[in-house]
Amino acid sequence: MPTSKTSPYDVIIVGAGINGCTSAYFLSQAGLKVVLVDKTGIASGGSGAAGAFISPKFYKQGPLKELMDVAYDEAMLFYSTALSSHILLKPLLHMSQDENEEPVYLEQGAVVDARAACEALAEGIDFYRLDIQSPFYRDNMWHCGDLQSSHLVLTIGAYPKILPIDYVGLRGIWGHRIDITTSSDVPHIFHHYVSISPTLKEGVVAIGATHDVHYSPFDSDTTYDIESGRALLLENASKTLKLDNIKILKDYTGLRSGSNDYMPMLGSLVDTGATQALHPHLQHGKAVDSKEFVYYPHLTMINGSGGYGFVLAPYLAKRLKEYLVDGIPLDESISPSRYFPRWAKRKKG
Ligand SMILES: Cc1cc2nc3c(=O)[nH]c(=O)nc-3n(C[C@H](O)[C@H](O)[C@H](O)COP(=O)(O)OP(=O)(O)OC[C@H]3O[C@@H](n4cnc5c(N)ncnc54)[C@H](O)[C@@H]3O)c2cc1C
Repeated sequence: MPTSKTSPYDVIIVGAGINGCTSAYFLSQAGLKVVLVDKTGIASGGSGAAGAFISPKFYKQGPLKELMDVAYDEAMLFYSTALSSHILLKPLLHMSQDENEEPVYLEQGAVVDARAACEALAEGIDFYRLDIQSPFYRDNMWHCGDLQSSHLVLTIGAYPKILPIDYVGLRGIWGHRIDITTSSDVPHIFHHYVSISPTLKEGVVAIGATHDVHYSPFDSDTTYDIESGRALLLENASKTLKLDNIKILKDYTGLRSGSNDYMPMLGSLVDTGATQALHPHLQHGKAVDSKEFVYYPHLTMINGSGGYGFVLAPYLAKRLKEYLVDGIPLDESISPSRYFPRWAKRKKG
């Protein structure tokens, strides 16, 4: 456990999913002293449950597709070079449930071993199992328990927020993946009603989906029914492929967190109280340049990657490194502050 004598870090990263681990990797490779903390363990959230397919966004054009195309290329290069023993290159057949959309066969699809990849990225980086609540900035340092750093990075996915940032709209969607053995051949990755895919483990096939918008482990009134979840996955898989002699090996469950506008988030966080005090007319809908907002100092958040966390993580972590180490400004269009003006106006009522 860290003690109050632990010398300060350049960066504390809270949350050791794919976003936290990839950020830790890029920042420590750039020479920063980084510590990664997680309340449960590495890849214990949505990342550990992920199918972790690396694919571009199919169909709809627009800013998300443009960003995803770049992120996909960067992800393929990153995993194939930095994590070559944790990526399986396989063609991917994407069949939309919308009959108007043609199936897409992607020669260069891939699947990453989600947990192993996170662990490999975090290797050699200080790690503590800590539940961080209400981190604070004092004397030019962020304080998380006994840990201190010049900069704080929050990568906590769909978990309850640890700062008062209600304006950041995030939705958790519950997912379930099963590893199985089957006597049937699964020649490539299928994305249809569910995903069906060979894995890096010889003879093991993964079936998974994130589709349950109603269940959340943070809602104490409900418990997730693993048996029904398995049955639903297998039923949906059978609509795509006939899988014989199925034996279930393991279940993985978790939440992925998506943003309201489906774009990922990378950027500083607005201190809502200080900003509203400085710009009271925000509540009347008056436009204020985002540069005029008050931000938490030296704090960056990565979140809201939806079903593309593994595709986007290298792209986002690389921009975080360029921002912190090379002084390159972050892309304003994916800043979480984009949600703030609307929230501040609504607060009026
Ligand atoms: C079933 C399933 C299938 C998926 N398939 C794909 C896919 O094929 N391709 C793809 O790209 N993406 C996929 N995703 C989405 C992807 O998994 C997520 O986008 C990604 O995992 C998000 O990573 P993250 O690091 O932001 O969050 P998470 O992995 O959820 O990590 C957050 C971490 O923060 C920790 N934490 C939270 N609060 C605190 C606190 N207060 N103190 C300390 N630690 C804290 C948690 O313990 C957790 O480990 C899938 C998701 C699921 C669930």
